Amino acid sequence: MSQVFHRHCHTPLRTAVRGDGVYLYDQDGKAYLDASGGAAVSCLGHSHAGVRAALHKQIDQLAYAHSSFFTTEVAETLATRLTARAPGDLNHVYFLSGGSEAVEAALKLARQYFVERGEPQRSRFIARRQSYHGNTLGALAVGGNAWRRAPFAPLLTHAEHIAPCYAYRDCKPGESLFDYGQRVANELEQCLLTVGPETVIAFVAEPVVGATAGALTAVEGYFKRIREICDRYGVLLILDEVMCGMGRTGTLFAHEQEGIHTDIVTIAKGLGAGYQPIGAMLASDRIYDTIANGSGFFQHGHTYMAHATTMAGSLAVLDALEQEQILARVNPMGEALMTRLRERFGEHPHIGDIRGRGLFQALELVHDRDSKRPFDPRSKLDSRIKSAGMSRGLMCYPMAGTIDGHRGHHILLAPPFIIEESQLDELTDKLYDTVQQVTAEAF
Ligand code: PLP
Repeated sequence: MSQVFHRHCHTPLRTAVRGDGVYLYDQDGKAYLDASGGAAVSCLGHSHAGVRAALHKQIDQLAYAHSSFFTTEVAETLATRLTARAPGDLNHVYFLSGGSEAVEAALKLARQYFVERGEPQRSRFIARRQSYHGNTLGALAVGGNAWRRAPFAPLLTHAEHIAPCYAYRDCKPGESLFDYGQRVANELEQCLLTVGPETVIAFVAEPVVGATAGALTAVEGYFKRIREICDRYGVLLILDEVMCGMGRTGTLFAHEQEGIHTDIVTIAKGLGAGYQPIGAMLASDRIYDTIANGSGFFQHGHTYMAHATTMAGSLAVLDALEQEQILARVNPMGEALMTRLRERFGEHPHIGDIRGRGLFQALELVHDRDSKRPFDPRSKLDSRIKSAGMSRGLMCYPMAGTIDGHRGHHILLAPPFIIEESQLDELTDKLYDTVQQVTAEAF
């Protein structure tokens, strides 16, 4: 028995021994096409020469210096590069070690901003159902996934949750997509008026929802309306791009495509591309300035923040995305993937929706397409798809979400940006066989 405490106590895991391009290899030399980038992490594949060289160089020179004693050139350069690319005035980067840490820091920074402005009565967050912001207690509190929250509910601070923007399920017959987007965005205003806008710190949302709803994009105009409402009531907007950011949807920051500016954005996964654990939070001038001109101290921090080796790895990731034109591959390869998914699954009786943006796409599974009824959660479709895929040498990311209290299923695809057309063929062939096998077994 393994002495590692794996999260699934009774599911034996293969041992990963090597990575090369879009493939991982196990102890028997079997290859797995990484169609999900792990969990939307490995944007450069598993053997990027430039990132490996940068890590070696940095670790030989300076592995780590605690951030309360020193800054480093790599941290300063990475921050400069990220802020130069970020929309609006997100000019201040706080480096952390992962997505949940980034979200925790964002929530605390937003709260401290209002405390320092003399508005300590602001103590609430509003977020959306069917969202995931991390597994630490603060991030879990704003997350809207009922199943993940349930056992820990008594430990979570209260957050309000409104509907996600989920046109496939919630747009009414005859309603335009734009009107639908305005209607669900207006739920934020109604919620603010119910709880008292002067008590609210921020609205938290993923621009493209990842783990809990499967590459769910908002309709045109939704986020513009959200921004207007936040501005009207003096509430901050925190966008969580831990999964959808760093080029995954075609632009470095996912919210660039929504035509809005945000007060805080969180990024992680693709920022380190899996070579090092990293997260970051970017904050706007007015937030930073309030604290800099107030207490002068953000009351937060972690031992490994702005870790020098991690910074060097991420800088090399950014170099690869920009200088090797890897980011420029995302939209064309995303279109190529979408075309293949539509060809193979467009008429599939158990695929209700095919959606996404860039190389962040998903299939939503349904019992039948007309009623959109999800599969029974007891079918454990997600774990069965995962293991059927793995036996075919395919890593995809099936998830059980929450649909109106029922858990529905989707399969998230987030392959490395370096994926080639022939590998997209392999991906769709293996995925088709996997879905066929598992849905056939479900009846
Ligand atoms: N936020 C979002 C949108 C995520 O998808 C995730 C992880 O999947 C997190 C936060 C938490 O990140 P981590 O697992 O690195 O703590």
